[in-house]
Amino acid sequence: MKRRNFIKNASLTGVGIAVGSALASCAESKKEAITPISEDAVQKGTLPLVIATWDVKNATAKAWEVLQSGGTALDAVEQGCMIEEANEKGQSVGKGGLPDRDGKVTLDACIMNKEGNCGSVVYLQNITHAVSVARKVMEETPHVMLAGKGAEQFAYDQGFQKENLLTEASKKAWEDWQVKSEYKPIINIENHDTIGMLAIDKNGDISGACTTSGLAYKMAGRVGDSPIIGSGLFVDNEVGAAVATGLGEEVVKTVGSFLVVELMRQGKTPQEACEEAISRIVSKPNSDYKNFQVGYIAINKKGETGYFAIHQYFSMTKYQAGNNENIQSEYFNKS
Ligand code: ASP
Repeated sequence: MKRRNFIKNASLTGVGIAVGSALASCAESKKEAITPISEDAVQKGTLPLVIATWDVKNATAKAWEVLQSGGTALDAVEQGCMIEEANEKGQSVGKGGLPDRDGKVTLDACIMNKEGNCGSVVYLQNITHAVSVARKVMEETPHVMLAGKGAEQFAYDQGFQKENLLTEASKKAWEDWQVKSEYKPIINIENHDTIGMLAIDKNGDISGACTTSGLAYKMAGRVGDSPIIGSGLFVDNEVGAAVATGLGEEVVKTVGSFLVVELMRQGKTPQEACEEAISRIVSKPNSDYKNFQVGYIAINKKGETGYFAIHQYFSMTKYQAGNNENIQSEYFNKS
C-alpha cells in the first residue's frame, strides 16, 4: 500500500485517531522534557558556551568571539577548529599533523548542526581545513561522507587550495620513528589530540565539530572515529552533544558519542554520561585499556558540561562567562 493510501485508510478505520492522539501526547511529553533556554541563562553568562578537547585556548577564544558577536554555534565550532588546523606546531590536526606510516598526512573531520544534519571527510589529503570541507559536504551535497580522492577533488571544486601538509618537523618525527619502530602505529596514552569542539549559542542551539590527522604512523588507509557520526561526534539539539578523542577503534566499537548523548536523554548529567561511556570500554572482556587512552567531553541543553577519560593526561578547555580555562579531567585508571 502506498504511504498516502495507508494514511488515508488508517484515518478512516480509527487507527488514525489512535496514532493521532499518541503523537499528540508524545509531542506534549517531549515539550516538557526539553528545558527551554531562557534569556536568564544568557544574562547570567551560563550561555553562550564552548568546550573543546585538550588545551586549545586559542581555538575556544575564536569560537567565543563568534558566539559573543551573536554568531551561530555552527560557525563557532568550525572557526574554532580551524585555528588548530592552521597551527603547524600542533602535530595532530590539519597542517603539520603527523603522517601515516608511509609519510602521508591524511585527515578526518566531521561537523553536525542543530537540525541534526552532518558532513564528514575521510582520508583527506593536501587540504588544511578538513572541518570546512566537512561543512561543505553537509551544505552543498546530498551526502554525509566523502572520502579520499573524491573528497579532495570536491574541496578543490569548492575553492580550497592544495597545500603540502607535511611540515619539516613532522617529516623529521616520522623519519625518526621509522628508524626505531617496528612499523606499528603509535597508540600512546599521553598525547592523543583530536580537536573536538561543542558550542551552544545565544539562542540555545547546539553544534559540534571535530578534526584530526588520526593516529600517528597509522597503516595507510586507516580511518578512526573522528569522521564517523555517532562515534567521534554526536549532536542532538534537544538533549546535548558529545565528542571523543583517543584510540578511535575503541570509540567506534561502542559508538561512544551517540551513547553519551543517549545516556543524557535518559536523565544522566554530562559527567555521569561520559563516565558511563568510558566504563563500557574498560569493562569489556579482555579490555586492553591500560595501553590506550579515550576521553569524552559533553554538554547538555542547560549548559552543564562533563568530561572523563581512561587515564590522566586529558583535559578540556571551557570558555564560559568570559572565562577561558583549561581543566584537567578526572580519569578512570588510578592504579
Ligand atoms: N581519535 C583519533 C583517531 O583515532 C585520534 C586521537 O584523538 O588521537 O583517529
